Amino acid sequence: MDTVKYYKRASLPLEMHKVCIVQKTRIPTVEERVEAIYRAGFNTYCLMSDDLYLDMLTDSGVNAMTNEQLGAMMLGDECYAGSRTYRKMCDKIKEIFNKDYFLPVHQGRACEHMIAKAFVQPGQIVPMNFQFGTAVGQIALQGGSYELCLKESGLELQSSEPFKGDFDTEKLERLLKEQGDNIAFVRIEAGTNLIGGQPISMGNMLEAARICRKYNAISILDASLLQDNLHFIKTRDAEYSHLSIREITRMLSDAMDIIYFSARKLGFGRGGAIITNDKAHYERVKYFVSKYEGFPTFGGMSIKEMEAICVGLDDTMDEETIAQGPAFIEYLTRELVERGIPMVTPPGGLGCHIDAMKFLPNIPREKYPAGCLAAAIYIASGCRGMERGGIDEPWENEDDLPFGTLETVRLAVPRRVYTVSQMNYLIDRILWLYDNRDLIGGLGFADGNRMGHNFYDKLEALEPWPERLAAKFREDFGDSL
Ligand SMILES: *Cc1c(COP(=O)(O)O)cnc(C)c1O
Repeated sequence: MDTVKYYKRASLPLEMHKVCIVQKTRIPTVEERVEAIYRAGFNTYCLMSDDLYLDMLTDSGVNAMTNEQLGAMMLGDECYAGSRTYRKMCDKIKEIFNKDYFLPVHQGRACEHMIAKAFVQPGQIVPMNFQFGTAVGQIALQGGSYELCLKESGLELQSSEPFKGDFDTEKLERLLKEQGDNIAFVRIEAGTNLIGGQPISMGNMLEAARICRKYNAISILDASLLQDNLHFIKTRDAEYSHLSIREITRMLSDAMDIIYFSARKLGFGRGGAIITNDKAHYERVKYFVSKYEGFPTFGGMSIKEMEAICVGLDDTMDEETIAQGPAFIEYLTRELVERGIPMVTPPGGLGCHIDAMKFLPNIPREKYPAGCLAAAIYIASGCRGMERGGIDEPWENEDDLPFGTLETVRLAVPRRVYTVSQMNYLIDRILWLYDNRDLIGGLGFADGNRMGHNFYDKLEALEPWPERLAAKFREDFGDSL
C-alpha cells in the first residue's frame, strides 16, 4: 500500500473511507461506570451497550459495512430453497478461493459444530496451532480433544517475531506419525486469536498442509481472521510479498482440504461458511447443515447478509481496505509501548492486547489480573475490552496451568468503526490508569458463584478498589467525564 507521509507531524493512521451513517454514543460518568461494573459482576460481557462509550469487546459482527454492502442487501433473493443469492455467493467463493462446494451456516461456531459432527469421533484428537474457545468447545461436545502445536516462542508476549502463530511443525509431524487414525483433522487458525491476534506465516501453513497430506489427515483452515493475516503476509513475509492478496489467498486455499470462517469477521457481515473441493466432505457436512442450520442454500444466514458478504469478500481482497484494522492496532500499540505500557508485541490483527501480569505485578494470578485490568479500564474510560486469562480459562494451581494460559486484556478494534481521536482518548485514559495502577485491587468468586463460562461468570471486588479509583479520577479530572 502507498503510505501517506506527513510534512510536519508524526504519522497517524489515515482512514480510507468517509462516514455515511453515524450512531450516537455518550460517555457515562465515572460514578455510573463504577455502578455498572458492580452490576456486571466485574465481567465486561455483562455490561450493556448503554453503559459504554467504546465497545472493544470483540470484532465479531460489529465491523462497519459499506454503502455498497447495504445497497447489495436489497438485492437479496429471499427464498427458502434455491435462492439466486446462494448461487452468487458460490460464484464469489469459487472466484476467490477456487473451491466448488459451499455451505452457509449462521456463524463461525456453527461451522465448527458442523465440522465436529462430521469428522470428530469420541477419543480423537485435533492438533491445532492454538486453541479457540468455540472450536475446542465443539470438538469436546463430540468427545474429542485438542493438542496445541504452537511453536513455543509464540507465547512470548513481548517479541519481534513477525509470525507468532506458527506451528511447531516437528511436533505436528510427530503427532500425526504416532497417532495416525486417532487424528480427526488438523486445524490451522489464521490469524491466531487468543495469543494477541498474531499471524501465521504462509510457509508454515503450506508446510502444515503438506504434513497433513503426507499422513493422510484432513487440513482445515479457520479463516475467520484471514483478512488481517493476509495483510501481514503481504507486509511482513518477504517471500510472498510480491504476490497480490488474491494470489496469496488462492495459493493458501489450494493447499487446504476445507476452509471455514466466521463471516461476522471475514466478509464484514454476519454469518459463516464452510467450503471445500471434496464432494464426500461436502456431503458429510451438508447432512448436518440441513439438520441444525437450515436448508443448505441459506443455512441459517439471512439472505441479505449473504449479499453483503459477497461484497465484503471482494473488499477483503483489497490491500488498502484490509490495512485499516492493523494500522489502527499498530498505532494504539506503538503509542502505548512508547509510554511504557506492557503490550503484546508485535501488534497483530483484530485488536491490541495488554500484558496484565506486567501492568499489575502486585496482583497474583489467583486474583485474576486480566479481569481486574479489564474492569479498571472500563472504570477509567467507559471502554470495554475482554479478559483473556484465568476467568476465561480456569485452572487450579500453578502446576497444572494449561499451556497457553496467558493473562491479557484484549481491546478489539472493530474494523472502520472508531476514529483516531477516539483511540487517542483511550490511550490517554490507559496512561492515567497506569500511573494509578497501585489503586487497582483483586477479584474473586463468591462461594458457589462460578458458573464456568466467561459469558456470565460474576465476580466480586476483594476490597473497595473501584471506589478508590473513581475518587482519584475525580481528584485528577474534576467534573470531566
Ligand atoms: C470469532 C472466531 C470464531 C467463531 O466465530 P463466531 O462467528 O463468533 O461464532 C472462530 N474462530 C476464530 C479464529 C474466531 O476469531
